[in-house]
Amino acid sequence: MNIHEYQAKAILKSFGAPVSNGVAILKAEDAAAAAKQLGGPLWVVKSQIHAGGRGKGKFKEATAGEKGGVRLAKSVDEVVEFAKQMLGATLVTIQTGPAGKQVNRLYIEDGSDIAKEFYLSALVDRVTSRVSFVVSTEGGMDIEQVAHDAPEKIITFSVDPATGVMPHHGRTVAKALGLTGELAKQADKLLNQLYRAFVEKDMSMLEINPLIVTTDGQLRCLDAKVSFDSNALYRHPDVMALRDETEEDAKEIEASKYDLNYITLDGTIGCMVNGAGLAMATMDIIKLYGEAPANFLDVGGGASKEKVTAAFKIITADPNVKGILINIFGGIMRCDVIAEGVIAAVKEVGLKVPLVVRLEGTNVELGKKIVSESGLNVISADDLDDAAQKIVKAVKEAV
Ligand code: GDP
Ligand code: MG
Repeated sequence: MNIHEYQAKAILKSFGAPVSNGVAILKAEDAAAAAKQLGGPLWVVKSQIHAGGRGKGKFKEATAGEKGGVRLAKSVDEVVEFAKQMLGATLVTIQTGPAGKQVNRLYIEDGSDIAKEFYLSALVDRVTSRVSFVVSTEGGMDIEQVAHDAPEKIITFSVDPATGVMPHHGRTVAKALGLTGELAKQADKLLNQLYRAFVEKDMSMLEINPLIVTTDGQLRCLDAKVSFDSNALYRHPDVMALRDETEEDAKEIEASKYDLNYITLDGTIGCMVNGAGLAMATMDIIKLYGEAPANFLDVGGGASKEKVTAAFKIITADPNVKGILINIFGGIMRCDVIAEGVIAAVKEVGLKVPLVVRLEGTNVELGKKIVSESGLNVISADDLDDAAQKIVKAVKEAV
């Protein structure tokens, strides 16, 4: 789960990390009061969307002005003007895709005078099974580009969970960023604060880009992007309360209500599969035969009829879906339950695209009988290969 920058900064602040003072607003009418409360003389008006690259982004509407989604303001009037321009407008950045994202919240911050910009991030490293840090002097830029052009400028190290952050880690960061004296001490302290925040809140990613040195010699987190491990959210109701559903894919939200593992993709074939491995294999074989999956969906081992119906509705609601492939191996899951769920869903929402069903395993005969006696226009398949070829063919013929 992702959160907004201002929410991430509030969490970092609660662990003692240095961030600027700021006020989040939803309405342009509140901009003047927020700016006055902060006092100036420099403010930053920041679009809050779940995507990076805001500074270099562009608004779709001409009324939002030429400047990007992060703007420096030198007066209360300017803060108000920017707030009016940005709220409700659609910001397109390298991370939003061409459709962009509507800006519904702004974060108004005390402006900092920047001497240097660095990059610092932490993530769960599956290779070492530890939390790894990535630091670089090349802050404020696209880190993927730095990794490509100047990989030697990226320093990484991992932290042993048994010891936590050690003084040598602090020295590694200070050396990598060229910090000495007081600033090196600040870097050591910050590293400890960030590591604690990461572990205690079950984050999966924490990115500070840029981490700055101010002209008066202070280290500060100027931007913050945080993702949390969804499997650990149950023990952080405070984090769960930060969820902004307007930033998420509506189909994925609906799927999460039914505990379905669903991810929207950009192909044309809707997939309903049980088991993550079989779902991956199904997506691969669709690709092999020349089409692309519209989603990943694992209905799980013991799905109920209601769950299958919900899954089918989510798939058919996607306008990109030109055909549906249901691929079920009934182990714990029974084929007749799947068949009943699908038929109930088709009767409820209708079927406007070709549907191929491949069933195998427990109660397969009963499942196939239910499908064939339903009178619905379902193409049945014998194995995975056959199923993928049939749905690709049906989709190609339909266009
Ligand atoms: P992003 O573009 O979505 O990554 O948003 P950031 O929060 O990183 O802001 C983009 C850029 O705006 C930063 O890299 C800075 O160069 C600039 N910026 C942000 N806050 C301040 C500030 O307080 N003072 C100054 N001078 N520049 C800022
Ligand atoms: Mg940034």
